[in-house]
Amino acid sequence: MSEVLMDIQNLSKYFTVETNMLGKPVSFLKAVDDVSLTINKGEAFGLVGESGCGKTTFGKILVNLYQPTHGKIFFEGLEITGLKEKQRRAYCKDIQMIFQDPYASLNPRMTIGDIIAEPILINNLLPRDKVEERVIYLLNCVGLAQHQRNRYPHEFSGGQRQRVGIARALAVQPKLIVCDEPVSALDVSIQAQVLNLLDDLKDEFGLTYLFIAHGLNVVKHISDRVGVMYLGKLVEIAAKRDLYANPLHPYTQALLSAIPIINPEKKKERIILEGDVPSPIDPPSGCRFCSRCFKRMEQCKANAPALKEVAPDHWVACHLF
Ligand code: SF4
Repeated sequence: MSEVLMDIQNLSKYFTVETNMLGKPVSFLKAVDDVSLTINKGEAFGLVGESGCGKTTFGKILVNLYQPTHGKIFFEGLEITGLKEKQRRAYCKDIQMIFQDPYASLNPRMTIGDIIAEPILINNLLPRDKVEERVIYLLNCVGLAQHQRNRYPHEFSGGQRQRVGIARALAVQPKLIVCDEPVSALDVSIQAQVLNLLDDLKDEFGLTYLFIAHGLNVVKHISDRVGVMYLGKLVEIAAKRDLYANPLHPYTQALLSAIPIINPEKKKERIILEGDVPSPIDPPSGCRFCSRCFKRMEQCKANAPALKEVAPDHWVACHLF
């Protein structure tokens, strides 16, 4: 039985869109709405969905960049929502994030060596005279040379900058890394290199990943389990093999049908979804996927389906099951 590292219970994040004359919020953007999930120690959990579905907001709540509106998060059994500053700082070190745009996340005025050394010094992890040795070690781990530590971010390519971002995340010896679309800004030829690097480092450093992506093709290689998110809700969770072989939710089926097949002799039918993703300020009543679902039924408009376990470790939120 897998050991749970993070237990997320009924997590929501609402952003205020409009207030009344008294300053009371009257309209909300429900970016994440009642999401429950466990992330097991040592696994890579892929979280997939279209842009604007709430997956990045979800990741930012886990690393304490946003406070949740509702819900609880337990990390190694300890509730971390609502912690006091000092305790929160201790757990923040354990959960790091790698960002989608490596250039924007690196200070252009600092050398790469200083960028990687900074979190080690802030957290007092090593004596000052040992920090450089550690920086060189981390650069080697991510495939960069030690002489590159004196260079600035603009002197590196996109893939190299993402390697620096990974080295900086590793610097504090985290337990969980939230990888927020870490390869989507990179050339296709570089994407595989960074994915392979993340995969290797996971074993080497005993890491756990929440790997966020907008397409199921990106998380296929690296994930052990996959969750599919639509308009702030989780609609399906399953082990990778089950999800790709037997997708149950119509939205997951549509996402999978969009993955190109390399073999020209194999043909598959692409499911084209109608319309655009509805606004999270005014989501459809009942099932949120209802306005675009090619299998919708009468009851779907009125009743929101709950996430249910329909086969061992395979969860789906759909009235068809
Ligand atoms: Fe489609 Fe209905 Fe299932 Fe929603 S509940 S995904 S509308 S079939």
